[in-house]
Amino acid sequence: MSAVRQLLVDNAVPALTTPLLEVANLRKYFGGGAHPVRAVDDVSFTIRQGETLGLVGESGSGKSTIGRLLTRLVDPTGGQMRYHGAGASQDLAALSQSQYRPLRSKIQIIFQDPYASLNPRMRIRDVLAEALDTHGLAKGRARTPRIHELLEQVGLRPEHAERFPHEFSGGQRQRIGIARALAVEPQFIVADEPLSALDVSIQAQVVNLLGELKEQLGLTLLFISHDLDVVEYLCDRVVVLYLGRVMEIAPTEALYAQPQHPYTRALLAAAPIPDPAQRRSIPLLQGDLPSPAHPPSGCVFRTRCPLAEERCASADLTLREVGPGHLHACWKTALTPFSLSTP
Ligand code: ADP
Ligand code: MG
Repeated sequence: MSAVRQLLVDNAVPALTTPLLEVANLRKYFGGGAHPVRAVDDVSFTIRQGETLGLVGESGSGKSTIGRLLTRLVDPTGGQMRYHGAGASQDLAALSQSQYRPLRSKIQIIFQDPYASLNPRMRIRDVLAEALDTHGLAKGRARTPRIHELLEQVGLRPEHAERFPHEFSGGQRQRIGIARALAVEPQFIVADEPLSALDVSIQAQVVNLLGELKEQLGLTLLFISHDLDVVEYLCDRVVVLYLGRVMEIAPTEALYAQPQHPYTRALLAAAPIPDPAQRRSIPLLQGDLPSPAHPPSGCVFRTRCPLAEERCASADLTLREVGPGHLHACWKTALTPFSLSTP
């Protein structure tokens, strides 16, 4: 690590302009034949050092597949994932599984259901020890203090090390999942719907924990969620995904104040608003997500888009920049931006 970067990490001041990961034209097709499932299709975005990037979209839009591609739990069909965190930059997509192995300590993933990924017969001490062993960290006498430190970092107590997974609440188990990810001293964490299995009352605590850890440890976070309120609270920028395609990318504030793509607007309109008086009565998102094995031609959203017209059937999905860092894929609203600052 360079002295400057070390200083940034020590001071927990993220250099938000340095890219950590550049994803370009990423594709994942499942199955062969004439109609593979296009789970991720030509997706490009950048994650900057120290930022929290949100990834949102309906169920089935390809969010988890992107998380699994970045952590190489699945192999990409095409595209690049250029990672700048580990010395010389490397294309994660071009690495074999064994070449990727050393990067597993840099890039960690947290799942929705921590219980499913915890061996019920292992004490928490051994769960964490296993993670440390994988990368040869904290050996011998350093082991126990490191395990205790990890537990304290996630708001648990040293004595929890001796317990089994079933002795914890859902929120505590997610904390264990986070501790296990932190054990290997990662730079980058993919959090795939880490709150979905938790009680609403617990969710805020886990969100705050993620936010604090990110600051303290200088982490970079890809936060996958369908909860638009949490994304607005936690994320610096947001990528909106639909049927494996990027519809819109923007700084969080701009996205929520001035959503440009009709899909983003529909998502935001469909999100629960705490005040019932403000809740919109017309569901804008009608019908089901089309099959990713048979995506509509042109703009993939057009079959559900309230603004669709003939030209959309042959429109391309090139992202157009309409404001600072604010890009979207709708040719039509690009012609008449939605109340973007017009002096
Ligand atoms: P999300 O996380 O946004 O709900 P996913 O990435 O899980 O979406 O899935 C995107 C699409 O890819 C879905 O249509 C899903 O059924 C399909 N898919 C995901 N994993 C596989 C797989 N292993 N084999 C076949 N299809 C898959
Ligand atoms: Mg998912």
